[in-house]
Amino acid sequence: MRYISTRGEAPALGFEDVLLTGLATDGGLYVPESLPHFSLEEIRSWRGLPYAELAFNVMYPFVEDAIPADDFRIMLNETYSGFAHQSVAPLVQLDSNEWVMELFRGPTLAFKDFALQLLGRLLDYVLEKRKQHVVIMGATSGDTGSAAIEGCRRCEHVDIFILHPYQRVSEVQRRQMTTVQGDNIHNIAVKGNFDDCQRMVKESFGDQSFLGGKTQLAAVNSINWARIMAQIVYYFQASLALGGPDRSMAFSVPTGNFGDIFAGYLAKKMGLPISQLVIATNRNDILHRFMSGNRYEQQQLEHTLSPSMDIMVSSNFERLLFDLHGRDGVAVKDLLENAAKGPVSIEDYRWKAARKLFDSDAVDDKATCDTIREIYAKNEYLLDPHTAIGVRAARNCRRDETVPMITLGTAHPAKFPDAIVESGLSVKPQLPPHMADLFEREERYTVLDNDLAEVQGFLSKHWKNA
Ligand SMILES: *Cc1c(COP(=O)(O)O)cnc(C)c1O
Repeated sequence: MRYISTRGEAPALGFEDVLLTGLATDGGLYVPESLPHFSLEEIRSWRGLPYAELAFNVMYPFVEDAIPADDFRIMLNETYSGFAHQSVAPLVQLDSNEWVMELFRGPTLAFKDFALQLLGRLLDYVLEKRKQHVVIMGATSGDTGSAAIEGCRRCEHVDIFILHPYQRVSEVQRRQMTTVQGDNIHNIAVKGNFDDCQRMVKESFGDQSFLGGKTQLAAVNSINWARIMAQIVYYFQASLALGGPDRSMAFSVPTGNFGDIFAGYLAKKMGLPISQLVIATNRNDILHRFMSGNRYEQQQLEHTLSPSMDIMVSSNFERLLFDLHGRDGVAVKDLLENAAKGPVSIEDYRWKAARKLFDSDAVDDKATCDTIREIYAKNEYLLDPHTAIGVRAARNCRRDETVPMITLGTAHPAKFPDAIVESGLSVKPQLPPHMADLFEREERYTVLDNDLAEVQGFLSKHWKNA
């Protein structure tokens, strides 16, 4: 399988290189040149398989040039046996034909574990084969940092440095990062804000000379193809559990960078009957504005109760635009260069093609809290604010009551206690047993000034073979 850039000018790459690469050299994102397609009969034959085996069937075509089947199977078994539920991604019923798929049973209680637990293993495997080492550098205001750290903690060929703004992430989120023990794990609290952290990461990628040429930086952010790939699997799992592929499904997806929902779009293209995908956003609603009015326009960032969806642009949306433009990289490049300067639209027939599958809704903090309260009152089930947005949007956008509607449950409610308090409920979400002692665990992090040279100096001194 070869991978090509959405902007049409970077060289095509194989899986190994795509795994180790962030943006393509032309500024685009890598996508498979062609997708595998499964017949209904084949999908049907996967009913009842353990998650790791289903994952093998769905993902192997993407990696087969780089990884022997048996090695990939072992990797998947290790990855998904670390999830605290037999079925890995259990379904909870809210109403007739309405479900939440709990994607938060992994080590850091958010769906990002599905991809990052696998990504760490894939990276180490490929680096071992190539006798290489990488330094992962990233900035986080919350979820991604802890999931990336957990994903890399057993890696022999990876050091990971995660920057977070000092005293500006919630205690649960900080502790999830700083209590993971490992010589290759380095948490840095920067005396600045999230943008300062992000800028330092960006500048370090731009000029890596501070590493002395002895290792190189790698990124595990949401544009990494391997992350998208791992997220395709649970759409198949949910569908098979509810009578697919012999009936079609609708999914509602709490959306930020458009990675998770793009995986659902790919599942459909690979043969899974999906009749509707709902893009559920918070007040940072660039995608909802595009889907409802064909106008793609950046606005100011707003801080909401669902911080993991606080974005101004959704980077993975470029991958959908590429398909909507008949995979014409030049057209995508022009469009996005214009979008950086002001509002843009796409041709009406292309927009209508997107609207056939996608609906959207933007849910503000008040409606988020209302939904948390309503679902708790009716079901005694506590939603985290991101999932609550998904449930609300699912109800507002539903096209057909006979089609099962599945909202992706992207985080455990105990990760976002503020939203529960805000919603007026007096219940306190409990951390699950494997995390119950989080507040007693020893923390390790280094506080550094908001200074690029200081941060880079720390990296160059502290990676394993420095
Ligand atoms: C990252 C995240 C999202 C958004 O997912 P995207 O793939 O960026 O659209 C939603 N909810 C939670 C809890 C997240 O951590």
